[in-house]
Amino acid sequence: TAASKDLWTRAERIFPQGVSGQAKFFTPYPVFVTSAQGAYVTDVSGRDYVDLLMGAGPLLLGHGHPAVVEAVRKQAVSMVNPMMPTRASIEYAERLQAHMPHLERLRFTNTGSEATRSAVRVARAATGRLKIAKFEGNYHGSDDAFLVSTHSSRLQGTPQRPEPVLDYAGLSPRLLDEVVVLPYNDAESAAALIAEHGSELAAVIMEPVSFSSGGGVPARPEFAAAVRAATAAHGIVLIFDEVLCALRLGLAGAPAYLGVTPDLVCIGKALGGGLPLAAFGGRADLMDGTLGVAAGARKVFQSGTFTENPLSVAAGAASLTVLETEDALTRADKAGERLRDGLRQLLLESGATATVTGVGSIVQLHLGVSEVHNRRDVLSGDLRQTADVLLGCVADGVLWPPIHPAVTSSEHTDADIDRVLHAVDGALA
Ligand code: PMP
Repeated sequence: TAASKDLWTRAERIFPQGVSGQAKFFTPYPVFVTSAQGAYVTDVSGRDYVDLLMGAGPLLLGHGHPAVVEAVRKQAVSMVNPMMPTRASIEYAERLQAHMPHLERLRFTNTGSEATRSAVRVARAATGRLKIAKFEGNYHGSDDAFLVSTHSSRLQGTPQRPEPVLDYAGLSPRLLDEVVVLPYNDAESAAALIAEHGSELAAVIMEPVSFSSGGGVPARPEFAAAVRAATAAHGIVLIFDEVLCALRLGLAGAPAYLGVTPDLVCIGKALGGGLPLAAFGGRADLMDGTLGVAAGARKVFQSGTFTENPLSVAAGAASLTVLETEDALTRADKAGERLRDGLRQLLLESGATATVTGVGSIVQLHLGVSEVHNRRDVLSGDLRQTADVLLGCVADGVLWPPIHPAVTSSEHTDADIDRVLHAVDGALA
């Protein structure tokens, strides 16, 4: 419409990446959203869409849940940011710990990227080693060290260097520390590579459910156990990045889901009930020994102006109460299950080579490949056609992000999911 064309032009003038930086999930069909409620967003032209992006994960209870809105409204008039822990942030941390006992200590951050970066700092300070290892296709945020092999398909096993960055002082290129890229869901090869680099690795970081570039596949419990054993054998800190799946996979988190306890975890997205809030934490000896108040323990600097701000804490705590007292998680999971089942049925009927991955409220569609367990499988599919189909749904009133896994919320009804399936059916045809 004229309204969205006008915004497109203005975005290109003011934002260096134009619309692709702002509406990156939907280029070349930017949808400029002005309001949202439940499972729906409304754009500048007054058009409704079933939302499967859900703020890229945080909105487990859908948009504008009344309990969350009320908590934020109350908090906003009382106090916005004292820039220090509050009774509410301490209580929220205690409640999170009660669900996730492996969080012997935790520290809030604003974003998932800060949480993963800080967890790696703790691992480096605790081990005195620099190198880290990550898994193909896993996403850990915008920090330089992690931007290796997330959306590219470089060789695994060989340490990779992220892009050189400019050193501010001398403007000379500075190479970042090497990152070892490991195969996902391949217990034997991953364990062998961890052993090979064992004495140099500070941390191995992994996603319990790989990001969409990695297929949106849950880790196999035996794979997670093998990674746990290999890291323990070499004194390497194992970090679970649960930023996307924290609370979604169950309130007890991925360690309960996989039966494997890491040394540190990073949680985010749903933690703030839609507002910016994340955390990292885990073993008390690691956290206290690097961030603690004891003399000599302060090796890692971690701070932020807006960290544990009361608005985010209020939204997160209100959201957790709903998750604890209603069957919200079950509803979100059921919507995800209905979507996966419906897609499988459609694909069967169409005779297309394709597969559907995901778990609970996380869903991913892959065309042109019959099985997906990791990034290599994703790349062997027809990425162009998959993106075309998902973007094609936009015309039919469904926002399905082509580069982020689709997520359902407690507010997605059977009718909403059926509307999504109808759009996918049309796009496939
Ligand atoms: N880790 C994972 C697994 C994520 O999904 C994301 C965000 N997509 C991040 C880290 C980074 O979090 P943020 O965008 O809040 O910095």
